[in-house]
Amino acid sequence: MRVTYVNGRYLPHAEAAVHVEDRGHQFADAVYEVLPVAGGRLCHVGQHLDRLERSLAALAIAWPVARRVLPVILGRVAVLNRVRDGLVYVQVSRGVAPRNHLFPPGTPPGLVVSAWPHKGPSAAQAERGVEVRTRPDQRWKRPDVKTVGLLPNLLARQSAKEEGAYEAWLVDDRGVITEGSSTNAFIVARDGTLRTHPEDRSILGGVTRSNVLALARRQGLEVEERAFTVSEAMAAREAFLSGTTVTVLPVTRIDGHDIGDGRPGPVTRTLRALYQELRRP
Ligand code: PLP
Repeated sequence: MRVTYVNGRYLPHAEAAVHVEDRGHQFADAVYEVLPVAGGRLCHVGQHLDRLERSLAALAIAWPVARRVLPVILGRVAVLNRVRDGLVYVQVSRGVAPRNHLFPPGTPPGLVVSAWPHKGPSAAQAERGVEVRTRPDQRWKRPDVKTVGLLPNLLARQSAKEEGAYEAWLVDDRGVITEGSSTNAFIVARDGTLRTHPEDRSILGGVTRSNVLALARRQGLEVEERAFTVSEAMAAREAFLSGTTVTVLPVTRIDGHDIGDGRPGPVTRTLRALYQELRRP
């Protein structure tokens, strides 16, 4: 039976619910993390907890349980759901209080943890690569904070999907690609340099992104954390997405235009293989 943790209780998933006045529900006043489980083991726990700590601090929400206790709950939810390869989802809200824009003093934060099996993109998608469509980046000015306010991300991804693409690449007012709707964006430029948007307030600092950069530097690749435009992306040799749910996924078309020869390139293939290795228990 599927089990979900809600505020101290491990409940049958069908009965797992939060109050209608949970501030996550009413205001998107909540942050979240998604962690990979590989071979029954939670991966990159320290990095995800560090980012959760930053998100909580940005919104002045307290830890719902001590930081050192959270991995115990995450691990238990994964085991209770028999997840060997999949995802664990953690959401922390500012808690339940009568509806009011002002923060409710003395209200304990709400904690929900769920888990499910997940395989990532199919072998065919990884082998052939996927298409992305560019969409305007209509998010608030702090997408570096991992809040549940994902409506602009959802709208962009849905409209990209309706045109047959896998992901949307978000283009901001400067004309640069910030990131994907739920992934970070990379290109291998004409000169062979690996490029991705710098980790500032206009992107979410992906755990996968930083691990990919570390792997690339260890391989001796030239790496540049610098924004790139849509035309630079279209002229690139290679392009790919990074994220917990996809690891490294080749992008072979942008807005119907082939990248390179329209097939996943050698840098992307190498980084994908190295990333799968990193996840292996
Ligand atoms: N960018 C956005 C907007 C995301 O929502 C996510 C993940 O959900 C990522 C990037 C990738 O982050 P990570 O590698 O930590 O999964």
